[in-house]
Formats: sequence, structure tokens, C-alpha cells
Amino acid sequence: MAEAFHNFIGGRWVPARSARTFKNLNPATGVALGEFPESGPEDVEAAVHAARGAMRGWQLTPAPKRGEMLFRVGHLIAARKEELARAATREMGKILVETRGDVQEGVDMAYLAAGEGRRLYGVTTPSEMPNKWAMSVRVPIGVAGVITAWNFPLAVPTWKIFPALVAGNTVVFKPSEETPEMGWHLAKLLEEAGVPAGVFNVVHGTGPGVGWPLVQHAGVDVVSFTGSNAVGTKIAVEAARLGKRVSLEMGGKNAVIVMDDADLTLAANAVAWGAFGTTGQRCTATSRVIVHERVHDELVRLVVQRAQALKLGDGLEEGVEMGPLVNARQLERVSGYMKVGADEGAKVATGGARASGAGLDQGFFFQPTVLTDVRSDMRVAQEEIFGPVVSFVRVKSLADAVEVNNGTPFGLSSSIFTGNVNAAFTAMRDLTTGIVYVNHGTTGAETHLPFGGTRGTGNGHREAGHTMLDAFTEWKSVYVDFSGKVQRAQIDNN
Ligand code: NAD
Repeated sequence: MAEAFHNFIGGRWVPARSARTFKNLNPATGVALGEFPESGPEDVEAAVHAARGAMRGWQLTPAPKRGEMLFRVGHLIAARKEELARAATREMGKILVETRGDVQEGVDMAYLAAGEGRRLYGVTTPSEMPNKWAMSVRVPIGVAGVITAWNFPLAVPTWKIFPALVAGNTVVFKPSEETPEMGWHLAKLLEEAGVPAGVFNVVHGTGPGVGWPLVQHAGVDVVSFTGSNAVGTKIAVEAARLGKRVSLEMGGKNAVIVMDDADLTLAANAVAWGAFGTTGQRCTATSRVIVHERVHDELVRLVVQRAQALKLGDGLEEGVEMGPLVNARQLERVSGYMKVGADEGAKVATGGARASGAGLDQGFFFQPTVLTDVRSDMRVAQEEIFGPVVSFVRVKSLADAVEVNNGTPFGLSSSIFTGNVNAAFTAMRDLTTGIVYVNHGTTGAETHLPFGGTRGTGNGHREAGHTMLDAFTEWKSVYVDFSGKVQRAQIDNN
């Protein structure tokens, strides 16, 4: 029988009050890995109650001490990197090399956020009045509701949870129902690092069953969400209605631009990694290649060659280069886009169908796919497919390439391959995404730089980097008057 896992509420490991459970499945084999609580509003209520109860004590814990706990979490994650990476590959499918990177990002984020415990800088500034002191300090918002996707099951939650905690917020976390085990591990790690009961809580379950009641709960002051645009937009509308802060990280339609003076081997390698890594299920996945007409055919040939050489299989196996899609729904979605593309006139240069054969039939495998003859206004060039599918759009100039790049509803990541420094700087200036790479693909963000996108990708927030605290803190301005008089600003000194 699959192992039974519990919620973590108020420092206790508890089942859903309804006693209902759901199964966590391995997408490569279909085997059940564990039973998790299928929680409901009553479990959210208990977790928010615990988080509110722990708030004052946590806020009064000196920030450097909060940071020290995160350092311990970082050490613990590092010590268990292999175990955690294996667990992540088992439950969401991407290959071990990549889940190790995912876990490493959690380590990096822990250390980065922990350091904030000794910074959390405010601003002091001279007062316009004599004998008066003026400063502004960051203060925590309260209880943070954290809701995440499954594709970076350790890294993405840490981008939210660690900054929220170091700033003095308490947290109720709803992991994706596709990757509940990583949520469970995070709670174990924080418990072991000495984070007090109630400061961090995990409630497992579905979006409607747990995520939505968390968004709506009056005891949740800020919501941080990573996931699809459909869900994120709904959450934003509800948060606006309820007057709470919300930060959103949503979809992407990222492009690599390849100019006619680019190193084509380098570009092809980067496109293959960006398009087929994590089976194309990264928010920063390369899903478009905008290529100068003079090098189009050669680049297609090189990328097709790489796609066809990829070894598909269970990500836990040595030598496997691409794992399955996360579930049947994703398989159906990606397959559906093949028909959409064909109806619009796109051609399949390689792939285009479910992958089958030895070791693949029990899982949700899809062939690495290259689409050509794609125009920028086609749906396959505009919508997030979230699978191992890359569309080639042919252009005549850098100006055209920039226009195509910027012409989608998303604005997460973009990239240019060129040997021309002027073209590189023009692209750095004119590409309107939150992240821009030069001579590097669309993936590979580092935790100490801000992460996030423009337009439909988000709502203006950036995670990680020096911006990590912005979503989880308020500014409080404090004036101290030691003149012994009533000094009227704007009046007495003019
Ligand atoms: P999803 O929107 O289906 O689910 C995301 C989370 O929201 C899950 O935990 C889910 O249970 C929850 N949820 C679903 N319905 C909800 C509701 N009504 N109320 C509250 N919560 C609800 O997305 P997904 O399929 O898990 O993830 C894929 C998406 O995530 C892609 O669009 C991808 O681009 C995006 N993503 C973005 C980033 C980024 O940083 N921009 C990073 C990773 C993934």
C-alpha cells in the first residue's frame, strides 16, 4: 500500500478532517507513490488559525535569528540533495540532472533569504525640521498564502516561502497536487531546522478544495501564486475584491532569436536544452525560435538532429535525457496543439505525437517536436503549450525579430544569439521581457537576480534577487521629534 502522508498544521502532522485522500502518481510509470490528504476549507481554517496564532511570536523573533533558521534549512536541503532530487523526479518526471538543479536552487534561495535576516534594510533620511529623525522600515504583512505549480516543486515554493518567513510573515502553503511530496519534505525540513509551530503550515489538496479557500480566507493577508494564467487571473480578481495583496507568476511564450551571424551550433544546443529540458514544462521554456531567413534551414536541421537523438524514459534512469509530461491532461493538451498547428498551416519537422515503445507506454511521453512554417499570429506561436514543442518563425531582420518576440501576451524570458555587439545591445534595450539573455537560451535564472515577467506573465512583482521582500513587506515611515515643540511640516520651516 502507498505510504500515507499528512498535512502540517500548527506543528502537528494531521490528516484531512474529512479523512479523504488522493494518490500521488509517478508520471513515468503510473505507479502510486503515496496517499496525501485531500483537504478542504476546514483544514485551511485550522492552518490559517495556527499561522495567525504564531504571527506575533515570529515577528518578535529577531530577523537575524529567523535568518539563522533558514541557513539551517539550506544546510539540510544540501545534505539531502540526492534524496530530494530523486523524490522530485519520481513525482513529476523531469530527469535527475534537472531535479538536482531544482533542489540546488532551494539551497541557493535559503542562503540568499537567510542573509536578508541581517539586512532587511530600511531607509533613514534627514527630516526637513530641526531636531527630528526620519526613517522607513520594512514590516511583515501577516499571513502569506502560498500556492504553487508542479514544474519546479522545490525551487518555486522556496522563492516565496523563504522571503516571506525571513521578513516575519507566517505561511500557509498549498503545494501542487501533482507534487505533494516536495511540499511534505519542505515542512519536514523547516520543522527540523527549528521553525516554531504554526509559523509554516502545509495543506495538501486541489486548487478549488484548498487553494481557493486560502485565497478567500480573511486571515490571509497576502497571496503569492505561481501557475497558469487562467487560475492566476481569477485569484487576482478575487484578491482585488477582498483588498489583499497578490503576487502572480504565470505563463510564458519565450523566444530565442538567432541572427545570421550567430554561432549556430551553440544556438542549436541552447534551443534543444531550452525547448526539451523539463519536457518543455518550464515557464521559461524556449517555445519559439525567431530565426533569420539566411540561417533558417541550417538551424532547423541542427535542432531536429538534436531532438531525434534525445533518449526518452524514466528520469531516474542513467542516460535518459527527457522524461514524461506530468499527467494525462498535459499529454492531451500538447497533443491538441498538434492539430491546432496543422490546421493553421504549421509543418512538423520532427515529432508531433505521443512517444511509445519499450519503457514509455505506461507514462505520459511525448516526442520532442519541431514545428516550422509558423507565423507569429498562429496560436502555436502565441499560446503557452507547456510541452516539448518548439515553433520556428522566419524573419528578415533584427527589427522584425524584436517585433515578433514582443508580440505575444506574455513577457517572461527572451534571448538573442548574435556575434554583433550592436545587435546584442539593441536587443537588450528593445526586448520587452522581464529576463533577457545574450548568447544563452531562455532558461537558467540565478536566485540573486530578480525573476518574473512583463505583460500577462505577472502583475509587476519580481521574485528572488534584491526584490524578494517586496511582495511580503509593507513600508512603515517613522518620525521621531525630539525638539519638545509642535513642529509643523511644510508650514513652520517655510
Ligand atoms: P495551475 O494554475 O493549474 O495550478 C497552479 C496551482 O494553483 C496549483 O497548486 C493548483 O492546485 C492551484 N489552483 C488551481 N485552481 C485553483 C483555484 N481555483 N484557486 C486557487 N488555487 C488553484 O498551473 P500548473 O499546471 O500547476 O502550472 C503550470 C503553469 O505554471 C504554466 O502556465 C507555467 O508557465 C506556470 N509557471 C510559471 C512560473 C513563473 O515563475 N512565471 C514558474 C513555474 C510555472
